[in-house]
Amino acid sequence: MCGLAGIYSHKPVATELYDSLIHLQHRGQDAAGITTYNKHMHKTKGLGLVRDIFTEKKIKRLKGNIGIAHTRYPTHGGFGHGEIQPFWTSVPYGIALAHNGNLTNYNELAKNITSNESRYLNTNSDTEVLLHLFAELLHDRNKHDNDKEFFDGLCSALENIYEHVHGAYSVVALVIGKGLVAFRDPQGIRPLVKGIRSNSNGEHDYIIASENTMFYPLGFKPDGNVLPGELIYISEGGKVFSKRLMKKSFNPCIFEYVYFARPDATLNDVSVYRARLRMGQNLAEGWKNKYPEKIPDIIIPAPSTANTAALSMATALGVRYSEGLYKNPFIGRTFIMPGQKARKKSLRYKLTPQVTEISEKKVMIVDDSIVRGNTSREIVRMLKDFGATEVYFAVASPPVQSPCFYGVDMPTRAELIANNKSVDEIRQYLDVDLLFYQNIDDLAEAVMRKGDHHIDRPCMACFDKHYITSEMNIKKIQQLESMRINDRNGN
Ligand code: SF4
Repeated sequence: MCGLAGIYSHKPVATELYDSLIHLQHRGQDAAGITTYNKHMHKTKGLGLVRDIFTEKKIKRLKGNIGIAHTRYPTHGGFGHGEIQPFWTSVPYGIALAHNGNLTNYNELAKNITSNESRYLNTNSDTEVLLHLFAELLHDRNKHDNDKEFFDGLCSALENIYEHVHGAYSVVALVIGKGLVAFRDPQGIRPLVKGIRSNSNGEHDYIIASENTMFYPLGFKPDGNVLPGELIYISEGGKVFSKRLMKKSFNPCIFEYVYFARPDATLNDVSVYRARLRMGQNLAEGWKNKYPEKIPDIIIPAPSTANTAALSMATALGVRYSEGLYKNPFIGRTFIMPGQKARKKSLRYKLTPQVTEISEKKVMIVDDSIVRGNTSREIVRMLKDFGATEVYFAVASPPVQSPCFYGVDMPTRAELIANNKSVDEIRQYLDVDLLFYQNIDDLAEAVMRKGDHHIDRPCMACFDKHYITSEMNIKKIQQLESMRINDRNGN
C-alpha cells in the first residue's frame, strides 16, 4: 500500500505536496518522492519518513504549479533508492508517474515492454512498467497539440491499459507541457479521491489523492472520487476532461476500512470512522449472540486502529472502554515495517500496559485484524503479566486467510496464522479464554450500510479467497507468492 497525491494549482505546489505526504504518511513509511515541473522536471526523493527526506532547501528547488507525490510501502520490487516513486521518463514528453496498487501480470508486461517496445527497465517495480507502457501508448497516439486532441490520445492509451493491465492501480501522472493525469483501475480497488479549491479570482485548483486527509488543511473541498475505469486530465490551462472508459463491478478494498486508511478519511463516499464504529456494533451483536454470559469488566483496543471499533463495541455491550495499552507514538506501525525482527523488537517499546486498568479484571482486547498472530500473542502475554484474570479477544474482521495481490504487502499463505490453524487452534496459540472473529457479511454490512456509495461488493479476497479480477487462479497465486518471496530476499 502507498499514498499518492497530484495537485494542479495557480501557485507553486511543492509545499502543498509535502503537506499532502505528511497526511498520507500512515500509508507508507519506507520512502517518499515529489516531482513537479515548470519548463523542466524537478525531483526529490529519499528513503525514510517524509519529514526527514524533504528539507526546506530541497522543497525550494521543486518549481512549478503542477506536481505529484508518493509515499511508499513496497508490495512489489526491492527496497532501494531506485524503486522510490514517482518514476519518470523523458520519452515522449517527459512523464512522471506514481502508482498505488499492484499489477498481477507484471511479468508479461515487463517482457512486452523490454522486447517489443525496446525500453529498458531499471528496477523490478511494477510502477516502472506501467510508466513505460503509458508513455509508449501515448507516444503512438499523440500527434497533435491541443488539449482535446491530447485527451483523445490519452483515452485511447488508457483503453489499451484497461484491456491489458491486470490488478489494482490508482495513478497520478504529470506530462510536461500538458498537465496532470489521473486514472483508476476498472474495479476501483485502491482509493482515489478528488478535491477542488476556488481562488478569489474565480480560478480553480485541483487535488487528486489516495485519501482526503489533507483536503481541509490545504483548503480543498471534497469533490467525489475518481471512478473505477475513469480517466481525468487537467490541462496546463486548467481545463478538466474526464471519461469513464470501462465499467465493471465496483470492488474497492475492504481492508482500507479495517486497517489502512486514516479514520478521518472518506473513501468511495463511505466514512472510514463510521464504518469502524459499525464494525464494533456488529461485533458486539455477534458476541452477545454467541457468548451472552461472558461480559468483560473492561474493553481495551489494540491501539490505535482498533480504537474506534472497540469504543462502539464497549458502548453496545455496556462495558467501560479503556486505553489500557499506552502506545508510544514515536514508533512506526509494526504491520508495515519490513522484516520480522524489527516487528518483534518494536512491540514492547511501542505498547505499555496500564496496571490499574488490567489487574484483577476480565479484559476484552479488540483488534482490527490478526495477520501472523505474533503481535496479538504478545499483547495477551502483557495483559496476563499485568494481572488480567481472564482475556477475551475480539477481532473486527474475519480471519485473514489469503495474501493480498492488489497492493498490500501481506505475508504468504504459509505465514498467515488463519491459513494454517483453526479458530480454536489460534485461540490456543494466543493463549486467550475466548476468541471471536467478525462474520464476513457483518464486516461488509458495516462498510456498506450508510453513505451515498456505489460499491457493488468490496474486495474481501484476503478473508474469503475470492479474488475479484479474472486472471487470478491457483497458478497465478503461486507465481505471485514466489515473486514476493524473491523480492523480500533481494533476488
Ligand atoms: Fe484489500 Fe484484502 Fe482485497 Fe487486498 S485482498 S485488496 S487487502 S480486501
